[in-house]
Amino acid sequence: MLNKIRIVLVETSHTGNIGQAARAMLNMSLTELYLVNPKKRPDDHAEALASHADELVRGAKVVTSLHEALDGVDLIIGTSARTRRMDLPMLSAEEAAKSTLDVAKVGLEAAILFGRERTGLYNDELLMCHKHAYIPTNETYNSLNLAQAVQVFCYELYKQYQIEKNIKATPNVNHMRDKASSKELQSFYTHLESTLIDSGFLNPDKPGHVVDKLKRLYQRAQLESQEVNILRGFLSAVEHKLKG
Ligand code: SAH
Repeated sequence: MLNKIRIVLVETSHTGNIGQAARAMLNMSLTELYLVNPKKRPDDHAEALASHADELVRGAKVVTSLHEALDGVDLIIGTSARTRRMDLPMLSAEEAAKSTLDVAKVGLEAAILFGRERTGLYNDELLMCHKHAYIPTNETYNSLNLAQAVQVFCYELYKQYQIEKNIKATPNVNHMRDKASSKELQSFYTHLESTLIDSGFLNPDKPGHVVDKLKRLYQRAQLESQEVNILRGFLSAVEHKLKG
């Protein structure tokens, strides 16, 4: 069940953090580590800090885009210490672990995203997520070290896993099978933006936050593939009319 959950580190600067994150994962029986454009590929320092999780570091999947890391994923959770302008429903680490296990226990894939040491996840990356999760902290000092944040989430997942092991899996989230992939959603957003501009609704020189707000609306709706196809069909019809 836990091998259905990916830990995705985005543009990590320090290889030591990669090693410590790997150790945190293996302690909690998680093994699927994805590194999106790490500033430096995992090195000896990463392996030394990983301790007995050095194999996990060597087996990490290094990819060049977040889309690649999220390929085939049904539930995406973005972690952040800050509430953002675009915030989606916020879950505590414990609540996020429950949602994630609900997906993993019926054989679907989930990903938990962690941001850069200095700047966290960018808004457009958070907008690719279905949910945001935070570790409750001291309000005046809320940012944990990256590997320690990974540790807390992996611990919550492991705790929840222990509970789930004793409960028969229920197929109540099987409908997630039909959820639109992150690739389908990104193509839809690109199509939507160009139609908003072509129709004159959106001024490309002064776009404001309209597109981000619409993305947030659609992320919240957790669209299915078929629904994305309907929306794209509608956009194509509008474009066809515009071209006369
Ligand atoms: N200065 C950055 C903090 C980055 S810490 C910022 O303000 O966003 C590196 C990563 O650790 C974050 O991107 C997030 O993935 C995770 N993290 C740190 N503290 C967290 C918290 N309290 N809750 C959830 N994730 C946290």
